[in-house]
Amino acid sequence: MQVETSGAADFDADGEPADPPLARALSPSRAGDFMTCPLLYRFRVIDRLPEPPSAAAARGTLVHAVLERLFDEPAARRTPQAARDLVQPQWERLVAEEPELAGLFGDDEQRGAWMSEAAAMLDRYFTLEDPTRLEPAHRELSVRAVLESGLTLRGYIDRLDVAATGEIRIVDYKTGSAPREEFEARALFQMRFYALVLWRTGGTVPRLLQLIYLGNGEIVRYAPDEADLLATERKINALWRAIERARSSGDWRPRPSRLCAWCAHQAICPTFGGTPPPLPPLSADGPAGPQDSPQPEVPPQKDIPPQES
Ligand code: SF4
Repeated sequence: MQVETSGAADFDADGEPADPPLARALSPSRAGDFMTCPLLYRFRVIDRLPEPPSAAAARGTLVHAVLERLFDEPAARRTPQAARDLVQPQWERLVAEEPELAGLFGDDEQRGAWMSEAAAMLDRYFTLEDPTRLEPAHRELSVRAVLESGLTLRGYIDRLDVAATGEIRIVDYKTGSAPREEFEARALFQMRFYALVLWRTGGTVPRLLQLIYLGNGEIVRYAPDEADLLATERKINALWRAIERARSSGDWRPRPSRLCAWCAHQAICPTFGGTPPPLPPLSADGPAGPQDSPQPEVPPQKDIPPQES
C-alpha cells in the first residue's frame, strides 16, 4: 500500500493541496457532497461551478486561521485577548487573498456584528481547552494516502496532537452548533476518513477523534479501532465506485433534502425547476477531468453549512 503525508510544501499556488498525479482522488468534503446529493457533487467537481462566498464559511475560515496562529505564540501568551488580537489582522489577510470577501457585508455595522460572533466563538474555545497546556504536533496538516484500490484520499487536518507515548489525537474545529445525530455521523465520517489516512500512512490507529463545536461549546470524542477504519475504507471505495458509475453514465441525480436551503445551485437544479448545463466532454480521466476539486475542504471554505446549524 502506497501512503504518504505531506506538509505545507505540497500546497499549490492557491494554497490548496497539490493535485495528486492520479485521476482518482477524494476528500471528505467531496465525499460528503456525493452522499448528500450526486448532482451537487457534479456541479462542484465535474462542472466546477463557482460559488459565492458566504458569511458563515468566511467566519469559519477566520476562526480556524486565528486558532492556527494562536499556537505560534509562546504557551503562556495563548490567551483569549491574544486570540481576539489576531482577528483583525487575519481578516485583512483573508481579504487580501480573496478580495470578494470584502463584499460580504453591507456596512461596517454588519461586519462588526459578524466579527463579534467570531470573537465570541474564540472566547468559547477557551472554555473548552487550555491552549497553554497544548503543543500541537501539526496544524492545518495536508494529508494524503493512496489505497490499494488506487484511490487517493486527501484532506486537511485542523490539528494533530501526538502524546509523548506516541498516541495520536485528531482535532477538528466546527464553528456551528453540535449537529443533530445525522450530521454528527457525517462529521465523524470525516474524522474516520482522516484517521484512515493516518493509519495507512503510519500504521498507527489514532487514539482519539475530537470535534470541537465552537458554536455551542460542545466536544464530541470518539475512539476508533481497526474494524472502524476497515469499514470506512470499504465505504469510501464503494462511494468511489458509485461516483465512477455516475461519471460513466452521466446520471447525476439530485437528492433533495433540507440541505438544499444552503445550496448555491438551486437555479440550475431540476428539483427547483432549473436546467443543469450540458456535461463537459469526456476526457481520458472521466467526464471532466481528474481532480476531486476545485472546492476542497481547505481554507477559505472551511466548516460550511449545512452541517453546522
Ligand atoms: S438544490 Fe438540492 S437537490 Fe439540487 S443540487 Fe443542490 S443539494 Fe442537490
